[in-house]
Amino acid sequence: MSARPQRRVAIVGSGVSGVLTAAHLTRLAPADTRVTLFERAGRQARGIAYDTREPGHLLNVRAANMSAFPDAPHDFEAWLDGQPGLYAEIQHSAAGDFVSRQIYGRYLEDILRRACLTGDGACISLRPTDIVAVARMGEGFEVVDAAGRRDRFDDVVLAMGNVSDAAQETGPVFRNPWTPQAVRDLDPDRPVIILGTGLTMIDTVIALRRQGFHGRIVALSRRGLLPLPHAPAKAWPLPELTASERTHLSHLARRLRREARAAVAAGACWRSAVDALRPITQALWQGLDTPARARFLRHARPLWDVHRHRIAPSVAAALADERRSGNLEIRSGRIQAVQNEIVGGGVTVAYRPKGGGTQLAVSAQRLILATGVPEFSRSRDALVRSLIATGLVRLDPLGLGLDVDRGLGVRNFCGRREQGLWAIGPVVRGVFWECTAVPDIRVQAAELARTILRPAPARLVTTG
Ligand SMILES: Cc1cc2nc3c(=O)[nH]c(=O)nc-3n(C[C@H](O)[C@H](O)[C@H](O)COP(=O)(O)OP(=O)(O)OC[C@H]3O[C@@H](n4cnc5c(N)ncnc54)[C@H](O)[C@@H]3O)c2cc1C
Repeated sequence: MSARPQRRVAIVGSGVSGVLTAAHLTRLAPADTRVTLFERAGRQARGIAYDTREPGHLLNVRAANMSAFPDAPHDFEAWLDGQPGLYAEIQHSAAGDFVSRQIYGRYLEDILRRACLTGDGACISLRPTDIVAVARMGEGFEVVDAAGRRDRFDDVVLAMGNVSDAAQETGPVFRNPWTPQAVRDLDPDRPVIILGTGLTMIDTVIALRRQGFHGRIVALSRRGLLPLPHAPAKAWPLPELTASERTHLSHLARRLRREARAAVAAGACWRSAVDALRPITQALWQGLDTPARARFLRHARPLWDVHRHRIAPSVAAALADERRSGNLEIRSGRIQAVQNEIVGGGVTVAYRPKGGGTQLAVSAQRLILATGVPEFSRSRDALVRSLIATGLVRLDPLGLGLDVDRGLGVRNFCGRREQGLWAIGPVVRGVFWECTAVPDIRVQAAELARTILRPAPARLVTTG
């Protein structure tokens, strides 16, 4: 008879966050630890970002910065070197090398496979099922899947990532831009409207073209800002910010503009000044009070996003070609109404252009919403609703995600640490803001694995 494992850890979600947490646990945990990775999607180790089958969906981070392990910064490049079949798919540019997100998904699968094979550390089991509830049971938890199966665990890691509503798509409006149907079965002579002009819009344009739609695309957002391309950028020193620059958005924005001008004058580039903030971005967010964070989201976020989350040069070039040919129109304005057309089955979007003027309307066969991932507070996901309803979790003050302490321990409805319950990745973006890209998640995953394995009293983080 096999002995009861000393520690049972459940991880809900096998995207980057779940897989990397599991991989670190296998490296660090004693052999009698059991890690169970629950995943409801068809494929393990992908998540929305790396589940794409579209080879034109490139990483928006250079391959050189995509290692899954903070203590092995060249791991992804070394993995690529070991895959001669992929050489031809690496896009070289003066700004660095870029590869498709599909390839990155294979790297993650490989990490998971290796972690499962590790003989001397914790053992991982994969469970392809949808988790619908997590309930406190004594000192541990009961995890319930959609088929009603219940399992006991000592710790639960919530790594549900970019929670989508999985809404049933009907009619001409597609709420989920990643569903393959969003870009299929289109009339070449009628336009498609995409709401949003960010990274998801670009993904959608690429997917539409790959599916053979060569008609007109109109992309609309309040400001009509497009993500900027990567370019060669020298390192720039981390600025020493004053106390008011750390707490006042307008002062910080002024300082950042000054740094960008200085970088350009010194022969570097504005990108260098933006990238220099990376080590302190999370601390800057945490230094803002809730009204200041809300102001950032309302006013500064679009500008921050296009400068901070950039695209591969080849993607920027393809986008510029699209715009030059008139096939892709970027418009800016505020939506006033969306009406399904009674005849023709299309949709009409009425909007007021940025800067004023009379209301305009665009008619199209389809409207695809590419405005990013919905906030937790609006999610209809069964697990999220159940966690909130039972009080095991609470949302951060802006409802972007779950409230956690700096050690990723989940805070319950009364703000106390819920012992043994953890969260990582985009689900905690309300607390850390910049914690959704791999260079941030890999650090969180390594730290979380260490924290989980500490004896109980040492796992309490009192700050934050
Ligand atoms: C389109 C896109 C492109 C991106 N490109 C880049 C990039 O180029 N470089 C970069 O660094 N970052 C990129 N990112 C950001 C980043 O890598 C992702 O946000 C990252 O994938 C987050 O990982 P995650 O594991 O936390 O969440 P996810 O990838 O969303 O994975 C969560 C997983 O949990 C599963 N799940 C959810 N709920 C349940 C449940 N109740 N039961 C069972 N399973 C569940 C989901 O099916 C999913 O597989 C991109 C993000 C997106 C959305």
